[in-house]
Amino acid sequence: MFLNCGRSLPLLRHTDVPPRVTENFILSGYRFPNYSLQDCLLSAFRPTNETGNFWTHFLPVFIFAYYFVEVFGWEGAPHGDDPFFYPLWNYFIGVFCLLMASSMAHLLNSMSLVVREVCFFVDYGTISAYTVGSSLAYFYYIHPQAGIREAGTGGFNGSQVGADTGPRPLSYAVPEFSTFFETFYIPSSCVVAIICVLSCCNTRQRWRQYRYVIRTLVFLLPFLISSTPVFYRLLTRSPYPAASSSFVASTSMPSFFYRHCFWLVVSAVFNISKFPERLAPGRFDIWGHSHQWFHCCTFLSILDELHMIKAELKAILLQPSLLLPAETLPRLPGPTIASTYGVMLLLQTTIASIIVWFSWCANSIYGPQRDQLAKEHLKKHLKCH
Ligand SMILES: [Zn+2]
Repeated sequence: MFLNCGRSLPLLRHTDVPPRVTENFILSGYRFPNYSLQDCLLSAFRPTNETGNFWTHFLPVFIFAYYFVEVFGWEGAPHGDDPFFYPLWNYFIGVFCLLMASSMAHLLNSMSLVVREVCFFVDYGTISAYTVGSSLAYFYYIHPQAGIREAGTGGFNGSQVGADTGPRPLSYAVPEFSTFFETFYIPSSCVVAIICVLSCCNTRQRWRQYRYVIRTLVFLLPFLISSTPVFYRLLTRSPYPAASSSFVASTSMPSFFYRHCFWLVVSAVFNISKFPERLAPGRFDIWGHSHQWFHCCTFLSILDELHMIKAELKAILLQPSLLLPAETLPRLPGPTIASTYGVMLLLQTTIASIIVWFSWCANSIYGPQRDQLAKEHLKKHLKCH
């Protein structure tokens, strides 16, 4: 092991750090897993094998925010705190937490073996919360439940706009699918998200050999569930009258969705294949290894998802006569605090409890190892002086 007593802590080879910390085909650039908080934060500005992982999810926070706020400047858009935007804000919270937790997990994971575990539990938790944030946005804007009148019940043919002729279907979906969307869609998104957190946290304590495959597959399931409104839309007609400005605005939705899927597939390929470092171990230790490409592709997929949601939002906003206030029909659940922030809060609390449980287990597994490493580290440091 090489060790110097200079100001910046030395970077180590894969043989010099606990096996727990090593990544396949990454041979150098490791930080010793006993960094202080300050050392961790400063390591964002020196080339280690986590620097790229940090920046590839930290910088996108600002890019995402830039495209996100554009919505509020659109003509005819309600104020940012209008209930209409509750689902969009929940989507923002999901993406923001995902990107921040991921970048911070990569930056702080060398504080100790236990902190490393906690960082990645939080990372998995925020990925799951993000999928539910997406589901809320899909549910209200793409399903749509933001209050669009059913085609054929007045409004879409340009006649009888606003005519209320008794009970009418809540969505444009056929009744069987309506039941799924209205009753089971959000609850099943939440349940699947919780299953994902449990499975991914487990891969850090068992099934280690297949961890990348399991984590990738486990996140395919929430994608399939949360995307059902989009699948439904692609397989059926648009809820907007042909040739209307809303119809035109929403025509870009499919291409954004396909691009969103494309980036997800590419990110999964990087995550499982460990390409390119697999071809030349040691060559991509600091820059260009698969996890950085994985981050870039996941962010591009999120960006296309945002564009897709924005296209649908615009379509709804272009037809204000189709918007129904939440209180018009007791059965029409327009976005409310409880159905958006409430769901998100309940989910995040459940996920936080799961993380606390796994962190407690990790502490009992890695705590003794951490104390041993700290002692060794201190001994070597004293020898230097
Ligand atoms: Zn990552």
